[in-house]
Amino acid sequence: MSEIERESMPYDVVIVGAGPAGLSAAIRIKQLDPDLDVVVLEKGSEVGAHILSGAVLDPCGLDALIPDWKEKGAPLNVPVKKDNFLVLGEAGSMRIPNFPMPPLLNNHGNYIVSMGNVCRWMAEQAEELGVEVFPGMACSQVVYGDNGEVKGVVAGEFGLNPDGTQGPSYEPGMELHGKYVLFSEGVRGSLSKELIAKYDLAKDSEPQKYGLGMKEIWEIDPAKHSEGTVTHTMGWPLGGNAGGGSFLYHAENNQIFIGFVVHLNYKNPHLFPYMEFQRFKQHPEIKALLEGGKRVAYGARAITEGGWQSLPKLVFPGGALLGCSAGMVNVPRIKGNHNAMLSGKAAAEAAVAAIKAGRASDELSEYENDVRTGPIATDLKKVRNVKPMWSKYGLVASLALGGIDMWAASLMNINPFGTWKHGKSDAEATEKADKHKPIDYPKPDGKISFDRLTNLSFSATNHAEEQPCHLKLLDPSIPIDVNLPLYAEPAQRYCPAGVYEVLRDDDGSNPRFQINAQNCVHCKTCDIKDPSQNIKWVTPQGGEGPNYPNM
Ligand SMILES: Cc1cc2nc3c(=O)[nH]c(=O)nc-3n(C[C@H](O)[C@H](O)[C@H](O)COP(=O)(O)OP(=O)(O)OC[C@H]3O[C@@H](n4cnc5c(N)ncnc54)[C@H](O)[C@@H]3O)c2cc1C
Repeated sequence: MSEIERESMPYDVVIVGAGPAGLSAAIRIKQLDPDLDVVVLEKGSEVGAHILSGAVLDPCGLDALIPDWKEKGAPLNVPVKKDNFLVLGEAGSMRIPNFPMPPLLNNHGNYIVSMGNVCRWMAEQAEELGVEVFPGMACSQVVYGDNGEVKGVVAGEFGLNPDGTQGPSYEPGMELHGKYVLFSEGVRGSLSKELIAKYDLAKDSEPQKYGLGMKEIWEIDPAKHSEGTVTHTMGWPLGGNAGGGSFLYHAENNQIFIGFVVHLNYKNPHLFPYMEFQRFKQHPEIKALLEGGKRVAYGARAITEGGWQSLPKLVFPGGALLGCSAGMVNVPRIKGNHNAMLSGKAAAEAAVAAIKAGRASDELSEYENDVRTGPIATDLKKVRNVKPMWSKYGLVASLALGGIDMWAASLMNINPFGTWKHGKSDAEATEKADKHKPIDYPKPDGKISFDRLTNLSFSATNHAEEQPCHLKLLDPSIPIDVNLPLYAEPAQRYCPAGVYEVLRDDDGSNPRFQINAQNCVHCKTCDIKDPSQNIKWVTPQGGEGPNYPNM
């Protein structure tokens, strides 16, 4: 394709992604210097449309950013009142009492929130301060300067034909240039991935690790609802097949947020994470809670799990990685929103100081220092061994060893086991299909458990048909020639939205790989888990994908 001419707009700071990290950065910049020009670009149709968290929010990030958030009407309405931790067996459960749990796992002082609504409120705060927030604007390319620095991004390209040529209503979009460009795309950001590779940012860190998180919102019988109760479970149904577990948060209005996370380093390519979630809801205690209620929303998103040892270098000439674009989730707490906010604040402070000093397009090393020595480091270092211990020894041993490690870190500020490595990437962890048995999943009953496509319709996902497929196969022959014989093509199962299918003729011959890109909920699991690393997720046109109401 010929080089496309685009208009450009200069800003002081360009921010990619209106999640908690990006919006915190925008707000902090304007708090420090109202005269700076700041733009936030978001691919969702509105702020919050692509936000999917549990969520129990530790308000420490918001406290630091907007101390009077309560007076300003932040939607943190449900303080956590009760914390349960259960190990499930097939027919029952065992409650682990709270006293042996390390204090950092305590949820008192936290809030059950819709992070989508929190982000919508943060966007309002940002706009009141003069930030330009543009939803429906997918950033599809990084713009580099003459010296290899990041100069800006391309946003808002619309109207390409499926073959990549320009259609009748083609709009080239714009280049948005900044003295600094902050990438807050969340987990496995498509531009962040390019930057990590280009600047070799991960050369001194362990591979990033991920989980796949799936979530439903249910309205349940008020008699069973207990506003402010938080329950986490482990054990059944995953057992030894994979790490992971569930969360169940009683929010406002008789709603519960019920979700399931499957660690993506599972070995058995027959595992079907979505069906594990559906099976989990059939546990007698969970089913009893849901019976008589109705599911009102569904969504899925990957979650970063590598933690401290997987953090890449965060800065490069002209920009920085924020929040889960770098991977700042505290895994045993299943929390990353607070660190996303703290990272946004720290990056903003570094950018404003640099601009005031007349700098531009260099490395914001002050931001890197803040993350590596400040509150984010304190939070992540304490729990750094939990995930690798779990991967190596399974649930029970990791509860014991991880418990000792977290208690020592909490009481004495030491990790007695040093820093464990993660080793393989999640794609590399996948083993050959013939080493494992297929797993028999019960058919969804349509009341408590649902098939994937029915559930998908509760995510309000939408993509225009007339555009290039945003799920790129680097080599189109690999799904059928390599992944199918070796791994029983796991894309059919790991995708929580039914994007990937292997179609055959009636007699079972002639397998063909089909990509239903219109179903994609932007979780990025395919980009992470494909054993051949052959699927590249790129952003579709802006305004597409899921439209989560109040996830
Ligand atoms: C199932 C699940 C449960 C979780 N539960 C909790 C919890 O209870 N508590 C907690 O604190 N954390 C929780 N987390 C983790 C939390 O969601 C993340 O840590 C947090 O979202 C990171 O914030 P972020 O701003 O970095 O990224 P995100 O929140 O992912 O925001 C990124 C934004 O950037 C946009 N974007 C991405 N790429 C582009 C692009 N190229 N152009 C334009 N826009 C783009 C996205 O649409 C999105 O709106 C959970 C995660 C999952 C998946």
